[in-house]
Amino acid sequence: MPDEYSKYLQSLNDRQREAACSDIATPLMIAAGPGSGKTSTMVGRVLMLLNEGISASNILAMTFTIAAASEMRERIAKVAGKAAAKELTISTFHSFSLQLCRSHAEKLGRTPEFLIYGHGQQRRAIIEAVRLSENGKSRPKHSVGIDGEESNGITSPHHFKDASKKWLKFVTQAKASGKTPAECSKMGNEIGMLKESQDSWKAIVIDEFQDTSAMQYSLLRILASHNHITIVGDDDQSIFSFNGADISGFDSFRKDFPNYKEIRLNKNYRSTRYIVEAASSVIKNNKKRCQLKNVDTDNSSGSKIVIKECHNEDAQCAFVVDKILEATSNRSDVRCSLGNIAILYRRQVSGKVFQTAFRERKIPFNVHGVAVYRKKVVRAIIAMLKTTLPGCDDGSYRRVFKALLPFEKEEKKKVIDYIDKISTARKFSFISAAGEIFSAKVSGNLKRPQLSQGRKVLLTLEMISKLVHREQSISAVITSVANMVPQKYLLEQRAVVDVDGGKLLNEDNDMRSVLQFLLDDVSDFLSTHFAVAEGEREVVEGEKGCLNLIKAFVDYISERETENFRSRRHDNETSVTLTTIHQSKGLEWDIVFIIKVNECEIPLLHEFNGTAKENRTSIEEERRLLYVAMTRARTKLFILYVLTDSNWQMLQPSRFLKEIPNNLREEQADIETQDLQSKHDDISKETTGSSADLRPNIQPAKDVVQNDYHPNKLDEAAAELTEFVEANYGNGFLKGSVSNYER
Ligand code: ATP
Ligand code: MG
Repeated sequence: MPDEYSKYLQSLNDRQREAACSDIATPLMIAAGPGSGKTSTMVGRVLMLLNEGISASNILAMTFTIAAASEMRERIAKVAGKAAAKELTISTFHSFSLQLCRSHAEKLGRTPEFLIYGHGQQRRAIIEAVRLSENGKSRPKHSVGIDGEESNGITSPHHFKDASKKWLKFVTQAKASGKTPAECSKMGNEIGMLKESQDSWKAIVIDEFQDTSAMQYSLLRILASHNHITIVGDDDQSIFSFNGADISGFDSFRKDFPNYKEIRLNKNYRSTRYIVEAASSVIKNNKKRCQLKNVDTDNSSGSKIVIKECHNEDAQCAFVVDKILEATSNRSDVRCSLGNIAILYRRQVSGKVFQTAFRERKIPFNVHGVAVYRKKVVRAIIAMLKTTLPGCDDGSYRRVFKALLPFEKEEKKKVIDYIDKISTARKFSFISAAGEIFSAKVSGNLKRPQLSQGRKVLLTLEMISKLVHREQSISAVITSVANMVPQKYLLEQRAVVDVDGGKLLNEDNDMRSVLQFLLDDVSDFLSTHFAVAEGEREVVEGEKGCLNLIKAFVDYISERETENFRSRRHDNETSVTLTTIHQSKGLEWDIVFIIKVNECEIPLLHEFNGTAKENRTSIEEERRLLYVAMTRARTKLFILYVLTDSNWQMLQPSRFLKEIPNNLREEQADIETQDLQSKHDDISKETTGSSADLRPNIQPAKDVVQNDYHPNKLDEAAAELTEFVEANYGNGFLKGSVSNYER
């Protein structure tokens, strides 16, 4: 065994090593708590497989996020070398399934070049198809992410019409027969393409198994029919049930692979004792846990968990900034770099105020998130790239016309509607119809400027296609394409002033930031897919050819889009990470701040459509979410909650906070609140002479002040209090004492 391999295996504990080295012919399940080295063990297992002579190209490692996949590749590359790491298939379910469909496209009745619709496009296509097939009567209730093969390769509503009929039939049949999604996919398996794949994988390892959906599980079961499967997971960290994740997968595994071996890991290597114990105290309140785990640690106790009350989100932000500056200053005894700090929140929107504060303070940060791909400008650039690929869909062409035609909205709509009309009437694709129209064969009643601008769009598309074929680097192509988007469109989309989505806000408020984001993503993409370091890019780009890279990049983006809640590469050692809890899976930082741990956040009890969803199952999933967040911290954990939101509504701290035992926590009340409270008490004494009898009456007035008692806003608060008291107790009641109050 090479030295590096044995060194790595030596670094594992006995049980981890036993798991890594156990016989490949026996299915293996590693169930263990957070930070117990599951992922580390999985890396060890892959190394062992390589060592046993299994070729890297026959090993399939599946993880749940792009970030996790690239991290695993890097960790393996460190030990086994880049060449081996490059050969391995380390993939997410999404990209693996996509590759599978591409390589068997013909069996699915598609060409391998099919493109993937994003969520919005899917929804629109389905609505359109249902409208077409049911004479406009019904409307799908939800945005539908179809797992089946029907969502792929659809290039126009006409095309979708047949597919959708089949799809509707598929769903109706499944419903009528009471079949589970797993069984439905068995039906899909009749095409037999999976059977062929079985033989190519001599070993399959799956991380974060608890987040596998029934559909994904059935795919695994078929691929792993030779039993060469290892699953790694923690049911307490299952937080993707809205994506179909289903922890009963562990039970299915036990049933389907009866000769499996189970190894439990129970030492947490990541976090200090206080953190491990606090997290355990929270999660033990869940009733539905299929694997009871005793997580323990040999790490030192560390410091207690800080539970911090803040009067509002600005105060919360100020507190965090303060702590970060303290931790990174030379004076700090637990000095820590920015890259070892993360701020976790339930909803992306809670991170906004931090972005502003960090920019003001010049604290570098990176935001995990993909909101940028929802920006129309970015979609337009991607659509322009897609037009260079065979099989580009109508939706992308339509988007390109919308972006490139320099008209007011109404006029633009008129041109596009006309292209649609001709496309429907003649059963042409959108772009062929556009070709007919702008070559003036069927110009209809379009005006001259409209025709000449349409022609310009076609010329632009031709230019882009030439660019790609001229062997330019993918970054150069993207840069040129971005420069072709007219300023008018940028203004219309407010991209020049309001580009959302993390990194963009770091930069100047213009198109450059959009571009920078995309170029960063190209780097991420190259390193994720081809394990390419910065210096080697040109070689790979030359080898693969620009067109192929664009094809792969477009797929990668379709994955980033569907990953919505999952991780962006966690690579920046010199900046603070801002991320949702969902995106923080599997990652770790020295200092973690979990912010806005309030009722209505964690647990978030309302769906976005306003329906309440409070029941035991949903509460338990919310508790798991907090559990995942708490267990990301190595040495220091801050949990913050606010008293009022930005609309001055009072908020309650999360019910889960009570579950952290007193001996593990250190509470920090909001000092300003207390100060103000006592000052306010003084005011009432001053104004009334004796506070006792009037206190109940004064109580509501306090609420008014509490809504906004930041010292800078005392004037306002005082005015508001005066108004309130005077309205309730009559003019002159306060005799001006509130406004005379000394600050
Ligand atoms: P999660 O459930 O959050 O995904 P995990 O079980 O996958 O966690 P890892 O990420 O593999 O845990 O490991 C957590 C931390 O513990 C890492 O920093 C890792 O390097 C360290 N670690 C794992 N095993 C050992 C060990 N045997 N000795 C020392 N450190 C270890
Ligand atoms: Mg892990």
